[in-house]
Amino acid sequence: MTPAAPPALRWRALVWAALLMLFYALPWLRWNGRQALLFDLPARRFDLFGLTLWPQDVGVLFGLVAVLACTLVLLTTMAGRVWCGHACPQTLWSGLFRWIERSATRRLRPPALARLVKHLAWAAVALWTGITFVGLFSPIQPLVAGFWPARWSGWETFWVLFYATAAWANAGFLREQVCIDLCPYARVAPMLCNADTPKVCYDARRAEPRGARQLGQGSVQQRGRGLLDPTSASDYAFRAAHPALAGPPPRFADDRLGDCLDCGACVQVCPMQLDVRAGPQPDCIACGACVDACDAQMRAWRFPSGLVQLASENEMQGRPRRWLRPRTLAALLSLAALLGIGLHYL
Ligand code: SF4
Ligand code: SF4
Repeated sequence: MTPAAPPALRWRALVWAALLMLFYALPWLRWNGRQALLFDLPARRFDLFGLTLWPQDVGVLFGLVAVLACTLVLLTTMAGRVWCGHACPQTLWSGLFRWIERSATRRLRPPALARLVKHLAWAAVALWTGITFVGLFSPIQPLVAGFWPARWSGWETFWVLFYATAAWANAGFLREQVCIDLCPYARVAPMLCNADTPKVCYDARRAEPRGARQLGQGSVQQRGRGLLDPTSASDYAFRAAHPALAGPPPRFADDRLGDCLDCGACVQVCPMQLDVRAGPQPDCIACGACVDACDAQMRAWRFPSGLVQLASENEMQGRPRRWLRPRTLAALLSLAALLGIGLHYL
């Protein structure tokens, strides 16, 4: 019997919730009596927290975009795809829509009622998302006041419905297909990473051979089995990931098993439908859901956590991690140069 996993501090969910709240609050923030963030296209005036940009300041806007792009490159070379897993709108809204779906399915009967409530909640969130986004381009207070009785202009109606539909389709239905097939950053990110960039990794030396077991067996450390050599560990992991090629895996006595319980929890929670035990994969968005799921299992069995963890390939192989690499230095210098130019002209 598998012991119940104790609850953990869900810090990733808290980060997601904070970022979503920040987005919905953004158009409501005020600065010197005006909307703090407003891209007023008809008036050709952009308000950025007290900084007002006019058409002749378009260079400043491009500079800000270049600074953000350089920061993202620097973050990717140093920390991998943390943006994808923790701050990308596609990840945040897909997570929110999944949470609504799970809550409705768990709490409501019959299933037809759960489906109806789910779709109504999705539609409400999508509509509010569209209004919030358009509220960054058209003053939010008159926009919300004009919702009912309907007083929106044709363009406001079009863009609110456009963004609401995009949120509803991308987060409700397309989900990981957007990351796999549509996102340009997902194509570029692997080129910015190397063996020193952290990825979500499975510790095959400690985990293999995987398998269900009786209660009472300690971890490999507690039993004194220790870590496998790298070749045997990758061989076991490869065989388990490719049963059609390698044939059914052999049965091992409980005391020869590694720490992977083969419970499947890491696979069930993966939004990209990956099995982290098959090795680092280009579609992994480093959301850490498998890390949390596996740590919960490890706590339940009183094994050390970290069977699935965020680490670089070099760290996993016991080699020191290099922080300063050519790509990191190039991104750092570009960012410093852009900030220097910006400060000079301000
Ligand atoms: S493998 Fe883990 S970190 Fe990667 S996408 Fe799946 S759950 Fe997220
Ligand atoms: S959650 Fe951990 S113990 Fe369970 S199958 Fe995944 S790696 Fe193995």
